[in-house]
Amino acid sequence: MKIKKGDTALIISGKYRGKKGKVLKVFPKEDRVLVEGINLIKKHQKAKRTGEKGQIIEMPKPLQVSNVKLICSKCGKATRAGYKIIEKSKVRFCKKCHQEI
Ligand SMILES: [Zn+2]
Repeated sequence: MKIKKGDTALIISGKYRGKKGKVLKVFPKEDRVLVEGINLIKKHQKAKRTGEKGQIIEMPKPLQVSNVKLICSKCGKATRAGYKIIEKSKVRFCKKCHQEI
């Protein structure tokens, strides 16, 4: 997984194509990411107390990582990330501007 929590992702397919959002969570085993404000599903929340109304809340649902692209925090372009080893530690870099991200 080349996308991490806190990244900005660009949605490249489906109903939310062209939209951007912050990555809230990654699910490496399932190859899915949860992006803020994207792929919302309506969920009914039951009333907590009697007499109160239940509400409908919108929750984001994880997307396939193949449907999103990483937006580089340095150059602002939709990019792919690469990894390289610098002084024995793994760093992620942008394949467009080659800066560490
Ligand atoms: Zn870049």
